Amino acid sequence: MSGLEDLYREIILDHYRSPRNRGELPSPPALRAEGFNPVCGDEVVLYVNVTDGVITDVKVGGIGCSISVSTGSMMSEAIKGKTIEEAQALTRQFKSMLSISEDGEDADTDTDVADPAELRLGDLEALRGVAEYPVRIKCATLSWNTLAEALGSAE
Ligand code: ZN
Repeated sequence: MSGLEDLYREIILDHYRSPRNRGELPSPPALRAEGFNPVCGDEVVLYVNVTDGVITDVKVGGIGCSISVSTGSMMSEAIKGKTIEEAQALTRQFKSMLSISEDGEDADTDTDVADPAELRLGDLEALRGVAEYPVRIKCATLSWNTLAEALGSAE
C-alpha cells in the first residue's frame, strides 16, 4: 500500500512542479472564472475555450499549495477535448472519489454518462488520499468549483 502512496505522491509532485496548461487565454472569447480557498490561501484563475459544447482549450493561473496546483493541472488535462456534460460528469466522479456528493444526490447511481470507461480520472486518482484530510478537500475541489463557475457563465 505504501508503494501506491509513494506513486501517488510522485504524480502529485510532478504536476505541482510542472503544472500542465499553465497560463491564460484571451477573454473573451475564453470563459474566465476565479476561485479562492481562504482556508489555505489557494487561488485559481481558470480560462476555458468552448466551441459547440466542447472544451477546446484550458489554461490555469493562480497560486496555491501542492494539492490545489496539482489538481488544477490534472483537471486541465482531463477536461480538454471533453464536452461540457463530460466535464461535469468528471467533476461528479472526482467529488464522489473524495466522498462528496452534491445536492444530496448519490453519485454512484449517476447514469448521465453513457460509457463511464470513456471518462477516466487518470492521474486524478492520485488525489484519492486527500479524502483522509478534510481540510485539504477544499484545496482539491477548488479548481472543479471554479470550472463549474466558468462553464455556468456560458449560458
Ligand atoms: Zn491548499
